[in-house]
Amino acid sequence: MTKPLHPRTRMIHDGSDRRGFGEMSEALYLTQGFAYDSAETAEARFDGSDPGYVYARYGNPTVGMFEERLASLEGAEACFAMASGMAAVNAAMFSQLKAGDHVVAARALFGSCHYIVDSLLPRFGVQTTLVDGRDLDQWRAAMRGETKLCFLESPSNPTLEIIDIAAVAEIAHAGGAKLIVDNVFATPCFQHPLELGADLVMYSTTKHIDGQGRCLGGALLGDAETIRGPVMEYMKHTGAALSPFNAWVMLKGLETIHLRCDAQARNAEAIARHLSAHGAVKRALYPALPDHPQHDLAMRQMERGGTVVALELADKRAAFAFINALKIAKISNNLGDAKTIVTHPTTTTHQRMTEDDRLALGITPGLIRMSVGLEDTDDLLADIDRGLAAAG
Ligand SMILES: *Cc1c(COP(=O)(O)O)cnc(C)c1O
Repeated sequence: MTKPLHPRTRMIHDGSDRRGFGEMSEALYLTQGFAYDSAETAEARFDGSDPGYVYARYGNPTVGMFEERLASLEGAEACFAMASGMAAVNAAMFSQLKAGDHVVAARALFGSCHYIVDSLLPRFGVQTTLVDGRDLDQWRAAMRGETKLCFLESPSNPTLEIIDIAAVAEIAHAGGAKLIVDNVFATPCFQHPLELGADLVMYSTTKHIDGQGRCLGGALLGDAETIRGPVMEYMKHTGAALSPFNAWVMLKGLETIHLRCDAQARNAEAIARHLSAHGAVKRALYPALPDHPQHDLAMRQMERGGTVVALELADKRAAFAFINALKIAKISNNLGDAKTIVTHPTTTTHQRMTEDDRLALGITPGLIRMSVGLEDTDDLLADIDRGLAAAG
């Protein structure tokens, strides 16, 4: 019996669909359409009895290679890749919901996910309840007969709260609902929501899967019935297709994702330890640090702490002084990039929230989110010391 291949090996080879020339690097098929060799073939493609490609809005060989490789990493039956992470969240919701349905979601969500759940869905007659995702009793109490979907992100942006995925999956299933997990912060290397009981996993492939801040992309993974059924149907007709060029960049990104995420997590751990030992830092948050409030749960469901660290300084003035003094880390709002990035959520990504809502999520004016990159650890630590000295 041959041993199954490890993910690192599969990410180099799975999904390679070579045509004609024996090309080593997967081909980039920049084509919107496909020619059929007869009218009969065209008929068969359109009625689905021939599984070949029809139109790039719903399938392209380069996008297909990317979907197959990502499905292999996630251990999912099927994957549909899309134009962005938000296109994937939109598709996950709108392809499965109708007026009268109900959604339960954790309150600590990425801003645009919060908008879809809290503002957009209610306009179409879908009621939503937001809960503190860490409190399982709130999930239980929020479930109704009409609840179709539960949605969460763990670790959450930007305060790195951890939600017990297996426990929420059980609550969702007991109520006849499905659980969707936004797994962006955990990365497909360090957390496997489908193994924990989730039904669908969503990625912004813009983040670690590209990993070098070049392209927007997204993906939804899960059982073939849902992905090739309602999700595929919705995507076919609503248009947020992933460009073959972006798919090709991300296909190559998967070849190095383990190396990059391991190195970034190693840097993040070193930075978190350094910050938590520093007197000027009120709080350093990183799931793999023993003083993270949910450290045990985090280490039960994640292999490593991820690539994002959050730190809290005294106030906004200290946070701005810290950020402005950094010479290596860039001020931006992406994450998962090879370049280290700092974000001040209160004045950027979470600016439009009310102060009360921000404080309820632990987003204080002194909070800084740091997406840790691939730079040399000592250089990053020296940069952080420069920032902390300026923060006073
Ligand atoms: C970036 C991000 C998204 C949205 O992805 P886009 O590719 O920017 O559309 C959703 N959820 C989380 C947690 C993210 O970090």
